[in-house]
Amino acid sequence: MSDAATLSSPLANNPELADNIIGPPPHTPTILWIGCSDARVPESVWSPPPAVGEVFVQRNIANQFQPTDVNAVSVLTYGVTGIPTIKEVRVVGHTGCAGVQACYNVVNNIPIPPPPPPDSVLWTWLGPLRAHAHANRHQTLEWLTKENVRIQMRNVNAMLRSLGRADVAVNGYLYDIGNRRIYPVPPSD
Ligand SMILES: [Zn+2]
Repeated sequence: MSDAATLSSPLANNPELADNIIGPPPHTPTILWIGCSDARVPESVWSPPPAVGEVFVQRNIANQFQPTDVNAVSVLTYGVTGIPTIKEVRVVGHTGCAGVQACYNVVNNIPIPPPPPPDSVLWTWLGPLRAHAHANRHQTLEWLTKENVRIQMRNVNAMLRSLGRADVAVNGYLYDIGNRRIYPVPPSD
């Protein structure tokens, strides 16, 4: 019997302690989570919360997946080509998103509290969403919030096709921070 086996048996009910002794667990997440940096919407808002090791994560302002973003594209590329256990990409937006709100407000001439610095990289980051908001000025903030999820789903699907992994599921969700519920966002209206 190896030392590891000797140690793992009495520590079976204390995996955290056992892990500290016998080494790290394998990296076998099943979900790639694309969410907002907003501190209120980490992947642990999912119910039931995923365990440590279940979710591979990309979070940024307004849960974007832009084809020119080398960070997000690298996460997706490694996620679906380097981690065989990932079966789903989950794009999760949320109500009360300051990034979406800023885009909505600026195209509708509504003051933004607080406004992003003019000509900042933050406005560059939000450029694609702002352009989409501008092209759909007649729509509501609620529509733009969901549409932002749909846009990223389309972008992820296009990248998955180019990576030869169109078999990976892409699902969209909206987390309502008011009632703390998560709703599916279909790919189209
Ligand atoms: Zn947000």
